Amino acid sequence: MDLPIWNEGQPLLNRPNRSISILFAPLFLTAPALAIELGLPAQCELGKTCFVQQYPDMAAGDAVADPLCGALTYDGHSGTDLRILSMKEMEAGYAVVAVADGKVLRVRDQEQDYLIETESDRASVAGRECGNGLVLQLQDGYEVQYCHLRKGSLAVKPGDVVRTGDRLGEVGASGLAQFPHVHITVSRHGDTLDPLTGRKLSEGCTSTFRPDESLFAPEIVAKLEPTRPDILAFGVAGRPVDYDTLVREGPPPVVSTNDSVFVTWAWFANLKKGTVIRFILRDGKDETLVDHTSEPLDRNKASYSAFAGRKQTLPRGRYQVEVWVTLDGTLLREAVSEVAVR
Ligand SMILES: [Zn+2]
Repeated sequence: MDLPIWNEGQPLLNRPNRSISILFAPLFLTAPALAIELGLPAQCELGKTCFVQQYPDMAAGDAVADPLCGALTYDGHSGTDLRILSMKEMEAGYAVVAVADGKVLRVRDQEQDYLIETESDRASVAGRECGNGLVLQLQDGYEVQYCHLRKGSLAVKPGDVVRTGDRLGEVGASGLAQFPHVHITVSRHGDTLDPLTGRKLSEGCTSTFRPDESLFAPEIVAKLEPTRPDILAFGVAGRPVDYDTLVREGPPPVVSTNDSVFVTWAWFANLKKGTVIRFILRDGKDETLVDHTSEPLDRNKASYSAFAGRKQTLPRGRYQVEVWVTLDGTLLREAVSEVAVR
């Protein structure tokens, strides 16, 4: 089978034929068609083990706007990126699953999983930006294209019929990927759609979100919060954290009494310019060991890590770590956890 070239920014190449059966529909079928309800494209827990990192770009030309007129996208992005934390988690294996019942039209499975960092990395995947993936034909003219699956993980072949939630492969980092994720582009009769709002990308963004118009199932819509940042992970470590190590190895081990430093740390997605991060660490006697508030961010950060700590050994015991994410005086996210130091 001849594989098409899949660029994330390009529309799908094959369109299903438009059905003309509506012309002959008998009168008793006048009730509106059931709207499509898409599930998540991976088997994971939204907001805990996976996060939406980018939405489609709804703005024409060089302008950039996510579906709700925010900044959670980049120029020309055609789909929705559901990320897992790290390459280590990718190696453990996260299933990519069917978002709805459908039929597999085409697949690709032999691209390397490799994090794109430089311009030459980017050039090396030119024309194969989607990496490993597949196209599913759904009901009513809908199609969904999946990208960046793990090399060798494809579990279906063209012609296979799948049901919602069936395993298709694994989340990977093939093609143009800077973190392990699965990208889906949803289209209908050749128009690319944003599954969150149900709008065509060509219609532009909207600041009034109507959950009932979403293509995602209601329980997913309820968990998606494109106007708030995510805290992907946080804790107390025995060394400073950096973004590259986080995305490759995942969260660092919890600090121990063998470490000569301790840092409260956190890993974020989709912080806006002006965001302020506060770390608080308290010991078992409620004494405050860290209370650090950052300077406001000088620009939007799609992905970001930060830490604050001290050059001393943390004694054995139980601690409470808190992370606050504040913008213009409003607390957007807060995370609290108990940490046992041994
Ligand atoms: Zn994408």
